Amino acid sequence: MPKSVEILCPKCDWKPDGRAWWMCTCGHLWNTFETGGRCPACRKQWEETQCPNDGGGCGAISPHLDWYRGLDDWLIEELEQITILSPA
Ligand SMILES: [Zn+2]
Ligand SMILES: [Zn+2]
Repeated sequence: MPKSVEILCPKCDWKPDGRAWWMCTCGHLWNTFETGGRCPACRKQWEETQCPNDGGGCGAISPHLDWYRGLDDWLIEELEQITILSPA
């Protein structure tokens, strides 16, 4: 990942701390930024990501890609591939 890319909440600038703050509808808890928004348990692709209140965030829901600052084309491609390659 290029150094210019940072992951921050688009609303409050909360920075993910690497902990598993996101719960899928299947009940799995994980760090959504490790998988580009995809649940590793049921493989559901989340297009939107909530800023976790419990982790000190604002609770706002934003498109997953809006969290990446300084995102350039290759990373968008990378994330699209994650989506495309997801087995059904
Ligand atoms: Zn899931
Ligand atoms: Zn936030």
